[in-house]
Amino acid sequence: MKNKRSFIKDLSKKQVMEIKGCTDCRECLKHCPVQMVTGNADISTPEKIKIYKEFIDSTDSLKARIFGKKDIDEKLLKDFAEAVFECTTCGACGEICPVGLDTQRLWPALRREMVKRGIGPFGAQREMQKAISDTGNPYNEPAEERFKTWFPDEIKIAEQSEIAYYAGCTGAYEAHPMVRSDVLVLDAIGEPFTMLSADKEVCCGFPLFITGQHEMLEELTNKLVSAYAEKGVRELVCSCPCCVNIMSRDWPIFYGSELPFRIVHISQYVKKALEEGRLKLSKGLKEKIIYHDPCYLSRGVGVIEEPREVLRHIDGAELIEFDAHGRNSRCCGAGGAARKIFHENAIAMGRLTIDEAVEKGADRLVLSCPACYAKVNEAMKGHKKQITIVDIMELISECI
Ligand code: SF4
Ligand code: SF4
Repeated sequence: MKNKRSFIKDLSKKQVMEIKGCTDCRECLKHCPVQMVTGNADISTPEKIKIYKEFIDSTDSLKARIFGKKDIDEKLLKDFAEAVFECTTCGACGEICPVGLDTQRLWPALRREMVKRGIGPFGAQREMQKAISDTGNPYNEPAEERFKTWFPDEIKIAEQSEIAYYAGCTGAYEAHPMVRSDVLVLDAIGEPFTMLSADKEVCCGFPLFITGQHEMLEELTNKLVSAYAEKGVRELVCSCPCCVNIMSRDWPIFYGSELPFRIVHISQYVKKALEEGRLKLSKGLKEKIIYHDPCYLSRGVGVIEEPREVLRHIDGAELIEFDAHGRNSRCCGAGGAARKIFHENAIAMGRLTIDEAVEKGADRLVLSCPACYAKVNEAMKGHKKQITIVDIMELISECI
């Protein structure tokens, strides 16, 4: 009976309508990074949607209700699950879709459905839940190491403050120059800010959300929200777009009400400080820089202009754009935890970003996401084209 479970029970009405609405126009294939590096149309958005429609027809249609639900072929189900987990959940297909499928939200919902059926997550994704439960982070690194190697000794953290900084697991364990620079810039702004201790700053839940493993999400959310509320926080600053995304869009659902504080990406916070004159850049840069929009920041929460406005404050810097930028940006390869199982795809996607940045004559490639930072740096290793990668706050801290 496992496969006779409803395929629409846990989807929103809008998501069911979206699935029904796909016209198979195939416009989205040209914008999908997985298609760009694999060329495998069998795992494209319209193919996955077509199969899911068949699943729905087998168990949830009028015919199924009258004549009984049909068994779903186990192999078809498994192949579908793998295709959904190979996607980076970047949402580029949805952005271009004339029907308006919100695929950045739809794919995680379908992944959760697969997990509920016992198919997926895959490979290393399966270990994340235990790792987070044991250590507070999906990398299974010791909690006490969270801030140790990168946090600048000279910076003092307030015990209580209306402003808090959340470093996030990927920044804290995989993108040290990025989180170190965040803290240096926050300190230069001069407003006291607080942080949780290394054992209390646990995962925001995004890696579990995106891989359809929802069991711990309420617990993680409640733990973090109460800890920040106890510190009197009114504004929580994060540098990871995935943290910003889940905190602002999904935490209120897991928490059961509006959060007692606002969530902002560090580029939004720093932009305001620059405009109000609380942060001044004393040095300029005579170079051409290219900025990559992280999918969960641009398409996810619409933070597109703020990072650019921050970069425009750098005297002498010339900001250039990727062909696909803003809401249409191309995933760097790190999205959706797909990199944990489809490593070669992720590297190939990272290299597309590197190649375009080099071809456009940029001196440095500016990122604003720790997952992009870690993955594009990894893609650079052994690659024929090379460019210096820098996080947006790393660049700003150079100019202070
Ligand atoms: S979300 Fe991104 S990776 Fe997934 S199918 Fe759409 S365009 Fe491709
Ligand atoms: S662009 Fe939209 S309607 Fe067209 S195939 Fe892709 S998902 Fe379906």
